[in-house]
Amino acid sequence: MIERIRQEMLKLGFDEVTVDPMGNLLGRIGSGPRVIALDGHVDTVDVGELSLWDRDPFSGDIEDGILYGRGASDMKGGVASSVYAGALLKKSGIPDNVTLYVTATVQEEDCDGLCWQYIVNEDGLRPDLVVITEPTSLRIYRGTPRTDGNGSPHLRYLLPRISTGARGQRGLQDGRHHR
Ligand SMILES: [Zn+2]
Repeated sequence: MIERIRQEMLKLGFDEVTVDPMGNLLGRIGSGPRVIALDGHVDTVDVGELSLWDRDPFSGDIEDGILYGRGASDMKGGVASSVYAGALLKKSGIPDNVTLYVTATVQEEDCDGLCWQYIVNEDGLRPDLVVITEPTSLRIYRGTPRTDGNGSPHLRYLLPRISTGARGQRGLQDGRHHR
């Protein structure tokens, strides 16, 4: 999955595309001091009981404009949107003072926040703003800024909890209810 997205970013002309040792994909556009990240995880929970699915969870069927499959909503759709948002920004011209990262992250379903802990601490990427494209039934949630022991707002501000409703559906009919 990471390799597929990496190829797409390269094709779309991202300025730099790297995979960190944890497996997170970081696509960069621009090089300004103001750093914005669009983030989405690419791992999914298991498909669970196959008989509960209306269709093959790995089919990728598209019908009446709806894409069906495990992770279609949580959150391949958000990742695809972010990659192409980056491409559009690249095409139209990113402001000189902005760096945009599109991140496709891993292991979110096993340990929410671990990937960004790694990106912040090990990769050294500390965006001013992160937009996480988790599905939220089209509602916007704002992450709660957190501080470290010294009151610095910089270390733990990247870990908002955005409710998706998907967790309650683990192993169930993700394809039907979360498109
Ligand atoms: Zn998710």
